[in-house]
Amino acid sequence: MIIEKIDKSRFTPEIFNIQSFGTAFADHMLVCSYKDGKWGEPIIKPYGKLEFTPAMSVAHYGQGIFEGMKAYKGSEGDVFLFRPEKNFERMNKSAVRLDMPEIPEEIFMEGLKALVDLDRQWVPDIYGMSLYLRPVMFATEEAITARSANEYLFVILTAVAPNYYNKPLSVKVADRYSRAANGGVGYAKAAGNYAGSFYPTHIAREEGYDQVIWTDDATHTLIEEAGTMNVMVRIGDKLLTAPTSERILNGVTRDSMIELAKSSGIDIEVRKITVEEVYNAHKSGELKEVFGVGTAVVVNNYVAVGYGDERLELPDLPLEESYGKSLKKKLVDLQMGISEDPFGWRI
Ligand code: PMP
Repeated sequence: MIIEKIDKSRFTPEIFNIQSFGTAFADHMLVCSYKDGKWGEPIIKPYGKLEFTPAMSVAHYGQGIFEGMKAYKGSEGDVFLFRPEKNFERMNKSAVRLDMPEIPEEIFMEGLKALVDLDRQWVPDIYGMSLYLRPVMFATEEAITARSANEYLFVILTAVAPNYYNKPLSVKVADRYSRAANGGVGYAKAAGNYAGSFYPTHIAREEGYDQVIWTDDATHTLIEEAGTMNVMVRIGDKLLTAPTSERILNGVTRDSMIELAKSSGIDIEVRKITVEEVYNAHKSGELKEVFGVGTAVVVNNYVAVGYGDERLELPDLPLEESYGKSLKKKLVDLQMGISEDPFGWRI
């Protein structure tokens, strides 16, 4: 690996006051190109612009995939990654589905560690804050032929992630649009999945909601994901989450929350969740919580769920009574090195 350090760091402590996500990029990035059937040597260099031709095939045919994870700083100044091997595995699952080359483990893992190590000072030592890590791979071949490209770039960027927003979010159950279908690419972190979700989200916003609860494409009767998060529903004292499938992204946070719920004695069941049972549970007062789980916000308890013309308001439970809020605290404490790590998730 070649390392070209920045002459003068752009870091200032004020960067940690940022409010928006995904714009405060750290000093360095990792770049590695794929050509002639093989990966080249990874280079870590100052973050900045790269040059491309408008004929690059990702701009036309969308061969682009990415990952998202975080680095945290503990009180002793240690920097932790959280289960990065899960993101590595998922990135290569996405690569296979999009007919792109798989990334060798040492480029992904060693590159990630070297990059974070170099930009340690960019990892906030503030509870709930982190350095967001964004591996991305896209087709760079200069060819507007509709086929898999022969040239790709793998890049890892990092950006300071602001404190988890506690903005009360509401979600609208999708009854027309879908983000994924059987046989499709829903389980991959393919760029196009996100492009396709923006318009339905835009419509949901116009109706007064922040995000969409994605349902199965065939019948719109099963609750599957929420925005760019997996979703959990609490009916009475039972916590439910949909099984992963071809349509659902296998979230690292979802998996971790299932383990944490089990070890906390919460009755969690992985099974299909119908829109109807959620609606009926609300009518009978049994619907206690609906929350999204994902890297960006970890856990987000929704304040309302829109179903047709109805807005189902949810109670704002205090931390000790809420599964979502209490599991979020457990997970963040573990990620930040505050609590023990019985699962061996911290690196
Ligand atoms: N579903 C979708 C569609 C997502 O984009 C994400 C974010 N990666 C998730 C779920 C949550 O996955 P993770 O917990 O690994 O961030």
